[in-house]
Amino acid sequence: MITLDTSLTAFPSIKSPMLARLKRLHIETVGDLLYHFPTRYEDYSEILAISNAIPDEKATFEGIVLSIETKKTWRKGMLVTEALLGDATGQLKLIWFNQKHIAATLKEDASIRVSGKVVLDKGVFCISSPAFEFSSRSAIHTGRLVPIYPETDGLTSKYLRWQIESILNRPIEFTDLIPQDILSRLHLPSLTQALRSIHSPRTENDRLVARKRFAFDEMFLIQIKALQIKMQWDVETAIAFPSATEKVQAFVSKLPFELTAAQQKALQEIARDLEKPSPMNRLLNGDVGSGKTIIAALAALSVASADYQVVILAPTEVLAKQHFESLFTLFRNEPFETALFTQAYQRIGAESVNRETLLQSIQSGIARIIIATHAILQKNIRFHNLSLVIIDEQHRFGVAQRAYLQQEAAKLSDGLDNAIPHFLTMTATPIPRTLALSFFGNLDLSLLDEMPKDRKTIITRIATSDADRRYVYQFIQREIDKGRQAFVILPFVESSAALTEVKAAVAEHKRLSEEIFPQLRIGLLHGKLKSKEKEAVMAEFKNKKLDILVATSVVEVGIDIPNASVMLIEDADRFGLSQLHQFRGRVGRGEQQSYCFLFPGENASASNERLQVMVECSNGFDLAEKDLRLRGPGALFGTRQSGIPDIAMENIANVKLIQIARDEATTLLAQDPKLEKHPLLQKTLARFDEKIHLE
Ligand code: ADP
Ligand code: MG
Repeated sequence: MITLDTSLTAFPSIKSPMLARLKRLHIETVGDLLYHFPTRYEDYSEILAISNAIPDEKATFEGIVLSIETKKTWRKGMLVTEALLGDATGQLKLIWFNQKHIAATLKEDASIRVSGKVVLDKGVFCISSPAFEFSSRSAIHTGRLVPIYPETDGLTSKYLRWQIESILNRPIEFTDLIPQDILSRLHLPSLTQALRSIHSPRTENDRLVARKRFAFDEMFLIQIKALQIKMQWDVETAIAFPSATEKVQAFVSKLPFELTAAQQKALQEIARDLEKPSPMNRLLNGDVGSGKTIIAALAALSVASADYQVVILAPTEVLAKQHFESLFTLFRNEPFETALFTQAYQRIGAESVNRETLLQSIQSGIARIIIATHAILQKNIRFHNLSLVIIDEQHRFGVAQRAYLQQEAAKLSDGLDNAIPHFLTMTATPIPRTLALSFFGNLDLSLLDEMPKDRKTIITRIATSDADRRYVYQFIQREIDKGRQAFVILPFVESSAALTEVKAAVAEHKRLSEEIFPQLRIGLLHGKLKSKEKEAVMAEFKNKKLDILVATSVVEVGIDIPNASVMLIEDADRFGLSQLHQFRGRVGRGEQQSYCFLFPGENASASNERLQVMVECSNGFDLAEKDLRLRGPGALFGTRQSGIPDIAMENIANVKLIQIARDEATTLLAQDPKLEKHPLLQKTLARFDEKIHLE
């Protein structure tokens, strides 16, 4: 019996060099192979009469081999096989180069199907290197929707098609992880049927139904996972804090600004959660610059004032340091200590301390608010009444990583026997509400969809010509003369080419310093700098010792420099809308008018749709919706990072599908909360968990 777990070594037709290549793609079992889905299909389903052939179009024909001949070319010694195919309506020439086996297998009078692109050569229809198979064989490579697989070295689509087909042609019946009643209710095909249809669809509809089935599977798993997390969460206890409204309000009244209505509402929602004896699990979903940090700070204040401990997790050392600086300043008159814990820095208030001292003060509770990187998620670190964990997720963690972070944080030795911490997560960029509601199903939501009122809309322009460039540089000069500062962001290069990226940054820094702005102070920030070096550059920029900061996009720019008023982005078309918005959000943080200049790369047009959208739209939530539509959700969350399968990614904006998946997941878990009656589902979920990892 073949199951999805059957090893591919059980198939003599798969030879060991191929097994090794498949293994490199993590394909080792029947299940791995069958879940290696085609990326697209060539439509060779219709068999055309030869007389209906259209030059430059791909098609399939069926006929008799009228003649076949193999010759060696005179000059290059190449083997050329030429055949003439005839049907009732006409003749077609077929040509193959250096394919000895064609001459050996294909003989005169054979009846065959061929697929490929037709060209008209000296008045004769002709296909060069067509796929062919004998008419007596079932259609694999021709005569149907032919699946095309993501190809890698030495594993062609043809090979994969052949192997997959030979498995699917056996009398297989895989155990289905989705209960039959759900499949019937939703009119979804069985797993076996869906696998057959996705690899070998008879019709376009077959293919769509199969995709729908797999999309449902993934979404169903995600929803079960979310609901399980929520269920675990709901039975946990947390410290219930008495209302700290007065303390917090007194503090707020001393801030140099007034909270926006959205901030006040979020603050109330958080306060109400903290008053309950069950752990908060809330997502603070806000636009860039909407003021998430102060909300986190106020939540921390109310907990710290009650003598309980708070950890704030930042994704990078630079951001941790920055949060520390601002919170330490904010709380300098409070009767508790704010601390910083990263690989490179350990501080208690104004004092740098060694790791041992810091750990002791964390354990004793002297350090009350601790800003840290993930380095703090260690079992051997002892906390003292840790009861609030805030995650600042500039890195756009997927839902899975957040769950992981939370699990790890909940496991921390917090000094509280029967309680776990409350959790607050802040998004890096705004997440469209529909998406957040469906995809972050285990979280409660607070929305910061309003900007502080003194904020001016950032003026955004696309600059294309050399004259534009000169103008922008003059403009930057004038802003700097007024005492402002500017960012220059360089394009993203795949991380494998990190060195190229650094080189480009160094070169641009040199060019700007020597040719364009010799009189200005220009700093450089890139991914290869050490934490301390980055920190030093950041500090210089923050303290106005630098006029311009040249930075690559790998460098975390969730930084707050209120005096910066110009953001120049090179090769802007290479970034997604959310990213561009995130960069743009680095300026416009103070009261002065700010500007963002987008330079499209050499091969992009000025009418680049995304850049145009940036000019017209300044609302992060709207931009995120548009990004979703233009590039799909993978771009918003980072598919690879989150470990969420592609097919689910394509569907995370499909609210209807998500609703259905969620309803079915709720019903199933109500009947079988531990999935004891659904062992396969349980196993698949466990595997789903494994795929999920941090960065
Ligand atoms: P983000 O939501 O992107 O993390 P921050 O929390 O860094 O934004 O806030 C951006 C800037 O706006 C900070 O300098 C902060 O002090 C300031 N800020 C926050 N709330 C308000 C407000 N209600 N009015 C004016 N400025 C505010
Ligand atoms: Mg922030």
